[in-house]
Amino acid sequence: TTPLAQADPAIAGAIAKELERQQSQIELIASENITSLAVLEAQGSVLTNKYAEGYPGKRYYQGCEFVDIAESLAIERACQLFNCSFANVQPHSGAQANSAVMLALVKPGETILGMSLDAGGHLTHGAKPSLSGKWFHAVQYGVRRADGLIDYDEVESLAKEHKPKLIIAGGSAYSRQIDFARFRAIADKVGAYLMVDMAHFAGLVAGGVHPSPLPHAHVVTTTTHKTLRGPRGGMILSQDAELGKKINSAVFPGLQGGPLMHVIAAKAVAFGEALQPGFKRYAQAVIDNARALGAKLQGAGFDLVAGGTDTHLVLVDLRPKGLTGKAADESLERCGITCNKNGVPFDPEKPFITSGIRLGSPACTTRGFSTAEFELVGDWISEVLDGLARKADDNQALESDIRRRVRDLCDRFPIYPGL
Ligand code: PLP
Repeated sequence: TTPLAQADPAIAGAIAKELERQQSQIELIASENITSLAVLEAQGSVLTNKYAEGYPGKRYYQGCEFVDIAESLAIERACQLFNCSFANVQPHSGAQANSAVMLALVKPGETILGMSLDAGGHLTHGAKPSLSGKWFHAVQYGVRRADGLIDYDEVESLAKEHKPKLIIAGGSAYSRQIDFARFRAIADKVGAYLMVDMAHFAGLVAGGVHPSPLPHAHVVTTTTHKTLRGPRGGMILSQDAELGKKINSAVFPGLQGGPLMHVIAAKAVAFGEALQPGFKRYAQAVIDNARALGAKLQGAGFDLVAGGTDTHLVLVDLRPKGLTGKAADESLERCGITCNKNGVPFDPEKPFITSGIRLGSPACTTRGFSTAEFELVGDWISEVLDGLARKADDNQALESDIRRRVRDLCDRFPIYPGL
């Protein structure tokens, strides 16, 4: 038995069960991934014990020479990976990274312009319940009803009307590439900063299979745990050294106290992995697999928002089948296929019900699924959801049958063997 199992069987038991769940379920949550054992080891290390307020070489505590190695490597590798000159690897999460940029560049009451949650934006881009929506005058743009794409003319006219200090591009459920150059042109016309939040597609940028926002944005934020496949955390990048100084002060001492040095070490490990040639192949496979899954579902009569995908995710509109997102994600969960209900643009249902599900390929691509497996999964999803649409109250037999097939497929692509 392990020290944890001896000291705290309840927590050890929960972790063991979670490992088993990850091993035996098909993970299609677009924001999740499966880290390497090396990343897990760094994150579970003694670096968690260390206080290191400040930045490498300029700390407020003694004994930082070894955590400095870890943070300097994380910064160096991040700059190499994204071809930029400034990186702050300390934000505890994506939300913290976005808040830090706002703290650096915008004052309370000033105007920000971001994509609305309903259209696929993130809470932290100005949604009412979040700090970004409460402390700033948040104006929101959406997507066109006709094709589900960002309406850049709408963004431009909102920018001209409201004169935001900060314009935010990026989202959590937008499947197409964003025109960063057009966003920058709009920002320049009104004298705004442009922040691109590449949390979802950062791994695709790192792998060279998606355009980089770095040449266009004043500042780029990201999480490190989605397509980038690192530990849970955030990061801020820029090409502008002066802006970098402001960002550093905003992260610490502005917003956070001591950095999570164990997480920063794990970020360094993940960036090192993403610099390997194999990561390019991974990133391309993520896109190929999302497209294969989307095409299968389209062929089976589902609508895809924005007509398909350029990235790792598809947003499926279930209205042609008469299903809600809530009914669909619960039924799929009973099959061992994990995803999340998600609003579609102009969704008539409430946010807790929704008309859509969001599906992503990063995690299953990491475990080795290719387009053939994603097509199979697409068949199973349509089989079970068609069954649900036919007889909502009794889909149990089909769900159990697919659960068995899901387990067999997962057994063929094991993760964390021996853990
Ligand atoms: N930005 C975007 C675009 C996201 O999708 C997310 C997470 O879903 C975040 C920021 C927030 O990241 P975190 O959950 O680490 O705070």
